[in-house]
Amino acid sequence: MSDEAVIPSTTAPGASPTVRLRQVLGRMPDYKPGQPATAPVGVTPYKLSSNENPYGPLPSVVTAITEAAASINRYPDMAVVALRERLGRALSVSTDCIATGTGSVAVLAQIVQAACDAGDEVVFAWRSFEAYPIVTQLAGATPVMVELDDRARHRLDAMADAITDRTRVVLVCTPNNPTGPSVHRAELEAFLDRVPVDVIVVIDEAYVEFVRDPEAVRGLEVWRERPNVVVLRTFSKAYGLAGLRVGFAVAHPEVAAAIRKTATPFGVNSLAQAAAVASLDAFDELSERVESLVAERERVVQALEDQGWKLPQSDANFVWFPLGGESTAFAQACEEAGLMVRQYGDDGVRVTIGETEANTRLLEVAEKFGAR
Ligand code: PMP
Repeated sequence: MSDEAVIPSTTAPGASPTVRLRQVLGRMPDYKPGQPATAPVGVTPYKLSSNENPYGPLPSVVTAITEAAASINRYPDMAVVALRERLGRALSVSTDCIATGTGSVAVLAQIVQAACDAGDEVVFAWRSFEAYPIVTQLAGATPVMVELDDRARHRLDAMADAITDRTRVVLVCTPNNPTGPSVHRAELEAFLDRVPVDVIVVIDEAYVEFVRDPEAVRGLEVWRERPNVVVLRTFSKAYGLAGLRVGFAVAHPEVAAAIRKTATPFGVNSLAQAAAVASLDAFDELSERVESLVAERERVVQALEDQGWKLPQSDANFVWFPLGGESTAFAQACEEAGLMVRQYGDDGVRVTIGETEANTRLLEVAEKFGAR
């Protein structure tokens, strides 16, 4: 039986919908998730398209999730107290400065919703995290996108110039997804000196645990000195909990309260809360994994340089190939070798640092493709 035969439809094919939807939906790009891995017969496929952690969960984290599963007939703790307290201890931050959400992408949407009315502006670099224009437009706000420089870094002066009376939020992604470089502390401080104090500056640190650039900004240090700064973090990358959806913001109390107010009630589920607390308890073990991923990144970057590639700095768990019109050919070459990577139109291709064998295979594909 075909799908059409079993799914009842109230609308004839081709008929126009009877309900009114927001026009902005028609103007917005869909969020494109990284594709699952496929590979020729006999070749192990690897998914290097979503900046995930290749390591599975730690046994202690699985135990915490299993124990929490026994109570899922109850709603989770809506105030997320245990996790906020544990985070507060880990980061030396008061609990009222922490707001959580279903992944940092949801926390970001909460921030934009808390700050923007229709027609307000959100300034960010481009290319950057593809959810930025989506969460902005969904809040009824207008994205103001400022091109990266020729080393794929933020042009913070140009971003400061782009601020108007309508600007409510500026997003600074460091290291920048998908291009890799970190924003430096000195340049961010100079930028913040130019931003009006009633404009929120979000420092999106989804990949902060992978940062090794000594000049890179540390969001929390800046946050402690600036009332308009918010730091955004996630358990999806270094902590390896992408499937559970939990992220958080560190903000000054009034702002944190506003971010909590715009959250979906009970959004962060009990399993996610338990797993995040257990992951903070297992920080040393997780750090070893992060160290080995950073070592793999350094190996890949060095080998690509030796092959003659000229790539932007990578301070995260991925590398960026700014291949322009050759992006499709490179993504295809990767795919034929069983590596799912992330192509961004004619801008470039982002490849996550994954399992050692996957990384080695990437180096083989890159060598055969020829350095650019
Ligand atoms: N910020 C950046 C820069 C990201 O790359 C991502 C994930 N791709 C996120 C935020 C959101 O991650 P999550 O919602 O899983 O916390």
